[in-house]
Amino acid sequence: MSSKVPIFTLSNGVRMPSVGLGTWQMTGDEGKTVIRNAILAGYRHIDTATLYQNEDQIGDALAELFAEGVVKREDLFITTKAFCHEVAPDVIEEALRNSLKRLRLDYVDLYLAHIPAATRECGSHRTDVKVEDIWKGLENLYSLGLAKSIGVSNFNESQIERIVKIQKIPTHVSQVLELHLYLPQKAHREICKKHNIIITSYATLGSPGRMSVIGADGKPLFESTKNIPNELNDKNVKALAQKYNKTPAQILLRATVEMGIVVIPKTTNPERMKENINLFDFNISKAEVNLLEAHERSKPERLFWWPNVADHPEDPFAAER
Ligand code: NAP
Repeated sequence: MSSKVPIFTLSNGVRMPSVGLGTWQMTGDEGKTVIRNAILAGYRHIDTATLYQNEDQIGDALAELFAEGVVKREDLFITTKAFCHEVAPDVIEEALRNSLKRLRLDYVDLYLAHIPAATRECGSHRTDVKVEDIWKGLENLYSLGLAKSIGVSNFNESQIERIVKIQKIPTHVSQVLELHLYLPQKAHREICKKHNIIITSYATLGSPGRMSVIGADGKPLFESTKNIPNELNDKNVKALAQKYNKTPAQILLRATVEMGIVVIPKTTNPERMKENINLFDFNISKAEVNLLEAHERSKPERLFWWPNVADHPEDPFAAER
């Protein structure tokens, strides 16, 4: 069993475990076993998305665990996300209802718009849909009780400010355009602090698995990021790992939680799964967290680019492309 995971409270009072299991690239039959192992290892927070094509397996695993009395629905925090073709206000309710069917749940704890740019199912851009429209669709789902909290993912700072101006229900969470040691996202953190939005970090371990994703042209989709160093090998991280007799992954994850940020490391490996949640039986000092945070690069090194939304009027990366 894991050491106790701190719980963060969202602005609507919903309690969110600060460590969850990421499930991108968890596909096929292994998913059911992975989720069972995660719950037995102490995970109470699972992050999925329609894009990951594993909601079915997660739903099957959870239904079995509920039936066996291993865990109760109310003890879990389940996040899923509407992908580009699902975020427009005229389709988002059906998208969430479909996710809920696959997850075999009546509600999710958090529903995120995965990307701020709406498309049709075929991928062509819907330039008629603005981030404000996406937000109104999410608010409707919150009012219907289908999502206990709502939020955004991969929205840039100005898109969040635009939402805050019109929102009737506050933005509860921002799952950031990735956040890791080499892309510390300070501006994003400032905006979220100002508006009482909890941040979830993705790619906290530098997403080494991204290199196995193959694009439509048959080449690795993230080839251009191949030479970006991985923070699991960072010398400061390694020194702290040695000092505390922990692994580099545990240092990166614990330091991020110390910054008040939720982490959702992905693994399907049962030993790493335990490692990634056993983060709270040692004390990392504020100075040590600051030392890691102070690691500034002259050029921020982004691991993820979303080629499918390039040239979309709501492309969150437009300024950086
Ligand atoms: P990550 O969690 O930084 O890294 C996962 C990779 O690291 C996997 O290849 C995993 O391999 C390996 N790993 C896990 N634990 C490890 C450990 N203790 N030591 C060494 N290697 C370890 O990257 P991510 O999966 O890209 O991001 C995490 C989650 O965030 C995703 O699964 C997904 O839920 C979410 N996410 C969201 C977005 C978004 O647009 N909102 C984008 C990307 C990711 P094994 O499985 O073989 O252990």
